[in-house]
Amino acid sequence: MFPFSYTRVSTAHAALAAGRRGGRYIAGGTTLVDLMRETVERPETLVDISALPLRQITTTGRGGLRIGALVRMSEAAAHPVVRSTYPVISEALELSASAQLRNMATIGGNVLQRTRCAYFRDVSANCNKRTPGSGCAAREGVNRSHAILGTSAACVATHASDVAVAFAALDAVVHLEGPDGTRQVALTDFLLKPGDTPDREQDLRRGELITAVEVPAHPKPLRSGYLKVRDRQTYEFALTSAAVALNVQGGVIRAAKVAAGGVGTVPWRLSAVEEALVGQRPSTALWAAAAGRAADGAIPLAHNGFKVELLKRTVERQLAVVGGTR
Ligand code: SF4
Repeated sequence: MFPFSYTRVSTAHAALAAGRRGGRYIAGGTTLVDLMRETVERPETLVDISALPLRQITTTGRGGLRIGALVRMSEAAAHPVVRSTYPVISEALELSASAQLRNMATIGGNVLQRTRCAYFRDVSANCNKRTPGSGCAAREGVNRSHAILGTSAACVATHASDVAVAFAALDAVVHLEGPDGTRQVALTDFLLKPGDTPDREQDLRRGELITAVEVPAHPKPLRSGYLKVRDRQTYEFALTSAAVALNVQGGVIRAAKVAAGGVGTVPWRLSAVEEALVGQRPSTALWAAAAGRAADGAIPLAHNGFKVELLKRTVERQLAVVGGTR
């Protein structure tokens, strides 16, 4: 370990002042403490924001949800409104990590969590995300779990969150507060593809805090669910996953929201799949045809070509489950 200072704040004002001075926010600590132990991250000052009043889940209008950044994963998963209105969020949370981690980790921290690429966490390996310009050991290394969508020459790491995939499908918005005021950013814009700067992972300005994630009300009620495919049935990250939300009225799909996890450098919205669904009548043939577009644009690496077919099958299966034909 290495020396660092620790301060605990109880107001947003105090947090932002400490953040402006370069302090690193910590809440559940389930990602950051691991990275500090491995010396991947070496913050000089930790600012504990656990006591800030950001632990509420509230409804916003006709079916919208606002989840405070410090709500624990387990609290959000169990919340009756989340379970009844957006089961895709509950299911994504319950399929994440372990019960112990879900009791500690926060929604804001979950969205901000860093990649599980083993080379990123091995300080002896070349990694552009950890040390810009050093190279990417995963490109020519063991890359079975890495991304096939949204990659760049600099980085091929997946985003590890499950609930962020559900949020991406549901058009969630990240609420931020910083030294210069508040702002809102669509989650799909907030999480950045690696490009030439994989060390920059979010649209987050110096000293800014996530205060909440908001799922906007949708004009048409959605039926939703999350499917995660992984090497073992617990405490494991996704090889592929699918968040699906559909509105079917009069036997016709009126709205479709689909995103994938485990395959992208960020949660990956499947617009081509959605376009293939809207206006059509649910059927097994439709699910297969739409899911056939799920891997459009994929660039497999040496060890993860299997994800192309697995992604299509994951999406097809979850479309059938949510669409009611399975
Ligand atoms: Fe680092 Fe990204 Fe390459 Fe992993 S995939 S070694 S995180 S640059």
